[in-house]
Amino acid sequence: MTTCSIHAAEFRAAGTDLSERRRSGVSKGPLIDITAAPDTIGIHWGADGAARIGALTTISAIAADAGIGRAYPGLAAAAQGLATPQIRHLATLGGNLAQRSRCWYFRNPRIACLKKGGTECPARAGNHLYSVAFDLGPCVAPHPSTMAAALLAYEASVSTDRRSGMTIGELLGDGSNGTADHALAPGEMIRSVELPTPVPGERALYKRAISRSHAEWPLVEVCARAVVFGGAFQIIRIAAGGIAPVPLRLIASEAALQGVPANSADIANAARQATAAAKPLPMTAYKLDLLRGVVYDLLLQLTTA
Ligand SMILES: Cc1cc2nc3c(=O)[nH]c(=O)nc-3n(C[C@H](O)[C@H](O)[C@H](O)COP(=O)(O)OP(=O)(O)OC[C@H]3O[C@@H](n4cnc5c(N)ncnc54)[C@H](O)[C@@H]3O)c2cc1C
Repeated sequence: MTTCSIHAAEFRAAGTDLSERRRSGVSKGPLIDITAAPDTIGIHWGADGAARIGALTTISAIAADAGIGRAYPGLAAAAQGLATPQIRHLATLGGNLAQRSRCWYFRNPRIACLKKGGTECPARAGNHLYSVAFDLGPCVAPHPSTMAAALLAYEASVSTDRRSGMTIGELLGDGSNGTADHALAPGEMIRSVELPTPVPGERALYKRAISRSHAEWPLVEVCARAVVFGGAFQIIRIAAGGIAPVPLRLIASEAALQGVPANSADIANAARQATAAAKPLPMTAYKLDLLRGVVYDLLLQLTTA
């Protein structure tokens, strides 16, 4: 295989992802350092109780914010759980959403892949132990952003310097474009993320299955929000990462729970539905057991917390 490089200008926020690609030579060419402006940093609250988070806000600031912990506990828990304290202290929300794939073929400067102008995904016929279990496109790398998975559960929207109101699905695509990790145009900068007004009585949790206790991307991660009233699920949103080229809403699990009693039998049924649309690769079927298990544990905890 031949070597390919990326030569378009790239933004650098904290550089915790980019620096490693610069060192290896996977990212070359001009850089644009982005620094915080008043509207691109910090957490701003609307009169309706909804938060707007600037793209340059650090992950640790989100994780530590008491207001975020109260209004969006699933997002706070996701921020608390990712990477390491050192990375969270530097890394920004915008950089987390726009970070590039962790696939070891993509990260190797001597191997071509679809994301570096190559014609095929080498992980398909190679070692894809950490790849997708929902095979939705030509590239089999799972999307690396934990914050995107949590924000998907919250039905958050993203504003850039060119457009506003993008859903996480619009920002990251549907997984069918194997050449990119997001759908931003060259030079388009994420400026903020907008969350909806919290629903009264809503609870949320985040949980991950991981191959070591910290400093690692998860094998599977799930963020779920629910309103349980009168013993039944009135509102339920479940999003998962680590399993597909983009974070996925677990629509079949949500449908199985809507309006039904919040008991372990119905939750077990919903957890089984989580993998209904799965298309694992030869080495990734183990992720289906993990996904069902995490969904079950999380929902049970959510209804008994
Ligand atoms: C050991 C380790 C474990 C990790 N575990 C996890 C994990 O579990 N979950 C997880 O989500 N992440 C994980 N990470 C990745 C980490 O979260 C990212 O490196 C970090 O969030 C990137 O943020 P940054 O500000 O440093 O981005 P940068 O490195 O500066 O940029 C990353 C990319 O985003 C682009 N970019 C940056 N800001 C913007 C913007 N505002 N608009 C448009 N494009 C932009 C850059 O051009 C670049 O391509 C881990 C990292 C390490 C080292």
